[in-house]
Amino acid sequence: MIPIAGAPTKRVCYFFDSDVGGFHYGPGHPMKPTRIRMCHSLVMNYGLYKKMEIFRAKPATKREMTQFHTDDYIEFLSRVTPSNMDNYRKEQYKCNVGDDCPVFDGLFDYCSISAGGSMEGAARLSRNKCDIAVNWAGGLHHAKKGEASGFCYVNDIVLGILELLRYHPRVLYIDIDIHHGDGVEEAFYLTDRVMTVSFHKYGEFFPGTGELRDIGIGKGKYYAVNVPLRDGMSDEGYKSIFEPIVKQVMETYDPSAIVLQCGTDSLSGDKIGSFNLSMRGHANCVNFVKSFNKPLLLVGGGGYTMRNVSRAWAYETGLANGVELAADIPVNEYYEYFGPDYKLDVKASNAEDLNTPAFLERVKNVTFENLKQIKGPPSVQLQGVPPGSLDDIVDDPNQDEDMLDADERRAQATLDARTQKSGELSDSDDEGEGGRRDHASHRAKPKLAVGKGAATATQVAAASVAAMDVDGASSSAGPEEMTIDAELAVSEVRNEVAT
Ligand SMILES: [Zn+2]
Repeated sequence: MIPIAGAPTKRVCYFFDSDVGGFHYGPGHPMKPTRIRMCHSLVMNYGLYKKMEIFRAKPATKREMTQFHTDDYIEFLSRVTPSNMDNYRKEQYKCNVGDDCPVFDGLFDYCSISAGGSMEGAARLSRNKCDIAVNWAGGLHHAKKGEASGFCYVNDIVLGILELLRYHPRVLYIDIDIHHGDGVEEAFYLTDRVMTVSFHKYGEFFPGTGELRDIGIGKGKYYAVNVPLRDGMSDEGYKSIFEPIVKQVMETYDPSAIVLQCGTDSLSGDKIGSFNLSMRGHANCVNFVKSFNKPLLLVGGGGYTMRNVSRAWAYETGLANGVELAADIPVNEYYEYFGPDYKLDVKASNAEDLNTPAFLERVKNVTFENLKQIKGPPSVQLQGVPPGSLDDIVDDPNQDEDMLDADERRAQATLDARTQKSGELSDSDDEGEGGRRDHASHRAKPKLAVGKGAATATQVAAASVAAMDVDGASSSAGPEEMTIDAELAVSEVRNEVAT
């Protein structure tokens, strides 16, 4: 660990639950929660535990999850198991649980851990208990209000942002996963209290949304920013568009807290992604966002070449702590996966970059034009904060008892029942397992037109959530209820803070 000259000291809270590595989406599935444990192993063996507080978050409860998700959906997730799933065929179809988002043992516990880390991270940031909170088990940005999508079931990011909104008037969400951050964008598409900024591959690629002209609706117009990119994205090109746009967003929107989704499927050599970022190019985004010195929640996301996912997130954990990790991978329980060179760096390849400077310039200019439509940051009156479910945990003077060192943590782990078989682990990182699915859209949504542009189906879904909900037989929502529904959870936050 080498201290980075001039980096201000930050209080970092890092969330890790050793159980998370034991969940398994199923044979051949590209999403491998073990990557979180591999990352943690690097974090610990590089000595980062000396720099930051490590927490095991309280797992999110069903009630907490329904601050965003529907009751029916969460109830279904909490009940369905591989052995009873045949009794839930209808729900599986309705909630898009099946192929990409399979039912697996411990599914609900996995969601609880992921969401708990982001919510508690947000709560600690809001109470000024830390400057940066890190939850690599979070970042599951595709999950929708009532359905799973793209390997994501519960949207920990939306839940974390809702927690931040209890204290913060404006929250900025930035997403550097190679996929569009559609679930988060949709949740806040109608509000100016959250600005979402997603940099992603666009065109013939999951989830198919995130066009340049998709900018938000109603009060949320101009508060969604989409930066569509092409294959082969290089460090240099990414920096040339990321930094000016984020800088402009910061000046225009002036958020009081930031959430950065650090999906690593934008790295070179990812099994699903087709960008060409090196670890340092990816991490530059973290450093740049950190340099604004706002309360910052770092979450994970995609990333399907495990050894590189863990490298990048360990390195970025170092940056959060103001240190540069040494080039050689320290001995750790996953050491063999980092061969043949056992180096930390993830290098770019010589893949062609289809993002020409002229293309990037055009995208940047359109984005700037949209941002100019915002005349200063919107103001929100926060009048008192109602009690929340995490208050006791975050305010507890004995909170240090939550802090565990790695060994205690491992001893506590209840992994055995769900432990990934070592054969499965050694699989796949290079060879692929044969049955890997494409990260492709599976269920077409109805395409509707809103206003002038042809808004994409998912985005329209935000405006027409109510309409989509009422096609379920049970709903008898009247117009008033439908409006509240369409505003999603944000309106509930507003109502709360107004009372
Ligand atoms: Zn992704």
